[in-house]
Amino acid sequence: MQSYSLLAPAKINLLLEIIGDRPDGFHELVMVLQSVELADRIDIQASDTQEIYLKCDHPEVPEDETNLAYRAAKLMFDTFPEVHANYGGVTIKIKKNIPVAAGLAGGSGNAAAVLVGINLIWKLGLTQPELQDLAAKLGSDIPFCVSGGTAIATGRGEKLASLKNLTDMWVVLAKYDNISVSTPWAYQTYRQEYNDSYISDAEGVKSRTAKVHSSPLLKAIAHKDSAEIGKQIYNDLEKVVLPQYPQVAALKAAFAAQDILGTMMSGSGPTVFALCESESKAIASEQQVRSQIRDPHLKFWITKLSSKGIQVLSSN
Ligand code: ATP
Repeated sequence: MQSYSLLAPAKINLLLEIIGDRPDGFHELVMVLQSVELADRIDIQASDTQEIYLKCDHPEVPEDETNLAYRAAKLMFDTFPEVHANYGGVTIKIKKNIPVAAGLAGGSGNAAAVLVGINLIWKLGLTQPELQDLAAKLGSDIPFCVSGGTAIATGRGEKLASLKNLTDMWVVLAKYDNISVSTPWAYQTYRQEYNDSYISDAEGVKSRTAKVHSSPLLKAIAHKDSAEIGKQIYNDLEKVVLPQYPQVAALKAAFAAQDILGTMMSGSGPTVFALCESESKAIASEQQVRSQIRDPHLKFWITKLSSKGIQVLSSN
């Protein structure tokens, strides 16, 4: 039975800006998404049943049809029923290295890996844009996870354009393993608290009157100006998450006092990341923050920016 081992990298948000409300309940977003080297490993193998069998080594990750990787396999089965009947089912094994429910798109990356893996096992020959169209049906971060690197996402987050790849910076990720933030809660709270800062157009789309933060960051990325990138990273969801989770706010403040390029919460949190110009600065800032906060629930990862999306490690 043919099998593939794939790497599914985590992402951080260099920018998450909510620029409008939509009548369908979603938000108009501008996001700058960035892959990092920290990655889950996905082993996917053809099986002689017609089923999807999924195992994950992390106790908090579901192994049923609520797992995003399972849903990705189901989407492929439903989209290509004859190929599915011919090749049979799949066995998916997920080795989690990316913290779960952390704002790092762990589940989205796993789903992207399953789309790529089944495309290979079934020899479908789908191109990256074709895989991304399928990915968009599963969730707004998943098309990015297919291609990775540095990209700007607009609309609900599903319209993607690549930016100049950034790879020269190191990243410290820090997350309390006893704190999780609900993404719907973060967006709903933002909508309630900042409703007044929108104006409505004729179609009912509400737009922000406030300053848009993406332009200076995009300029800094175009110039690969690490110091300026560190200054221009931005996340609107911090406004609702940090007041509600003072430990996360204190963690960000502790990083801000270090010799780093910049610090920010990723996505809806609660992971805080610090951008650093070298590995030694990443290690030094991690050690300083660890010794200042001294909480066994606070976990750290040191990684690097990456230009890669889903990668094939090996095939059999
Ligand atoms: P995003 O940044 O895309 O919002 P996240 O990093 O905040 O994602 P995930 O790690 O993807 O969050 O997990 C969110 C929830 O989804 C978890 O609570 C988990 O139960 C569920 N989940 C479903 N499939 C997966 C998966 N393959 N890996 C991790 N979590 C998954």
